[in-house]
Amino acid sequence: MKEKLRRFMYGRYGMDQFSRFLITISLIGFILSLLTGREIFYLIGVLALIYTYFRVFSKNRNKRIAENQKYWQMTNRFRTSWERFKRDSAQRKTHHIYKCPTCSQKIRVPRGKGRIEITCPKCGTKFIKNS
Ligand SMILES: [Zn+2]
Repeated sequence: MKEKLRRFMYGRYGMDQFSRFLITISLIGFILSLLTGREIFYLIGVLALIYTYFRVFSKNRNKRIAENQKYWQMTNRFRTSWERFKRDSAQRKTHHIYKCPTCSQKIRVPRGKGRIEITCPKCGTKFIKNS
């Protein structure tokens, strides 16, 4: 049985990030269909699952790799803005982010220093803020 499975999987593409994403979509589809009773979500779930199986068992490696790369490129912007959001939220605990009133340059100032004069590093405008 194990040998049969091994032979069956030989030369097949297997799992990648795009397939993991499709499984997530299919799970969300099934959960939404349970919650709302709408068939369209169930259909989305089934289709995403079928497509996942198709990709995992596919023998056309190059095409699947190209799909995965395309998925990675398309989601790259979301991933980087999510990373930026996480980083900014962490900084907000220790720093204030002010915008220069003249040129809108973002300026990071440590918290808890009382009233301070800030000099914009870009245009030299001075303004006073509570940190
Ligand atoms: Zn400025």
